[in-house]
Amino acid sequence: MSAPLMREIKRRIEAAGPIGVADYMQLALAHPEHGYYATRDPFGAKGDFVTAPEISQMFGEVIGLWAAHMWGALGRPSPFALVELGPGRGTLMADMLRAGRLAPGFTEAARVHLVETSPALRRRQRAALREAAVPVSWFETLAAVPAGPTILVANEFFDALPVRQYVRTGEGWRERTIGINASGKLAWRTAESRAETHGKVGVILAEQRRARPGMVAEISPQRADMARQIGSRLALSGAALIVDYGYSARPLGDTFQAVKRHSYADPLSDPGNADLTAHVDFSALCAAARRAGARAFGPITQGQFLTALGIRRRAEKLKEINAERAAEIDAAVARLTGADAMGSLFKVVAFTGPDGPVPPPFAD
Ligand code: SAH
Repeated sequence: MSAPLMREIKRRIEAAGPIGVADYMQLALAHPEHGYYATRDPFGAKGDFVTAPEISQMFGEVIGLWAAHMWGALGRPSPFALVELGPGRGTLMADMLRAGRLAPGFTEAARVHLVETSPALRRRQRAALREAAVPVSWFETLAAVPAGPTILVANEFFDALPVRQYVRTGEGWRERTIGINASGKLAWRTAESRAETHGKVGVILAEQRRARPGMVAEISPQRADMARQIGSRLALSGAALIVDYGYSARPLGDTFQAVKRHSYADPLSDPGNADLTAHVDFSALCAAARRAGARAFGPITQGQFLTALGIRRRAEKLKEINAERAAEIDAAVARLTGADAMGSLFKVVAFTGPDGPVPPPFAD
């Protein structure tokens, strides 16, 4: 139990009333002392969930080749910032850098900049990149990363950024909040006052004309702001690749979920000890990046992306060297690309600068 975090959340609610889902997510995931990511390494079979780079080195290698290709298409800037948001165990970056060695000059020009808030995961990342022989530095926020030509990647980062929820009622939209019930447990509430009708959130809510009472809309100003920051950073020169699970166009519905030891859990029962996420609205990310002047491509599915960029060719090569691991390699390809596994729920978008090159495998 993260009893201290539960106590702190209840104290806040008692002092100032129910809190929104975004504030709750922020505290549960990113509280500097008791937050989920601050206190542990959640990945792998023994942890709570498994991400694509932890399934197979092929995921990072394909993305490394994408990055090296984009670096060439951008005119081989040297030096350039190779930025990763939320690098977890550092596996994706280590695999990217190894594959990037196939492009002469790429690794030598790269300055690795990792945006990571968790001290525990920063230590894992340092260990994973010890042998990579590239300069690595860590930042709390993307805003702190020095400007300049940039190639940026983010896998399962946006789903961890907070979302707000709004419920359609007979009298219009109300924010969905979290309060305390009669038995002292965290419980769902609906704000008493109407949700804002102006600003970005108001505009999005006004567009949801199909919403019937009881339906939930999820909106994430934090995610849109992050996409906007990425978009404006690329104005000079650069490219970004974002992979996450979510939908191409915003539907209505509640996707806020908790995962603990590879199973779904009640998101309100144990803040700080379960991973909390909500699906990513890729149309909102692309719109925000475009508003910042970037070109946005996609979304396509992770299966389409990895297949078009040659994951099967890479698998054949790996099987030649590791014949005894052939079945495991085939299983990893199926898991990463299969429609019944990660292949279609996970999506990929790419951004480039206003006059930037079209990133493979997207078309103009
Ligand atoms: N990309 C990794 C890890 C995904 S989990 C992988 O695919 O395996 C989310 C990662 O984002 C973790 O490293 C977490 O500590 C980090 N993170 C979450 N919120 C963050 C924030 N607001 N700023 C920076 N890093 C954050």
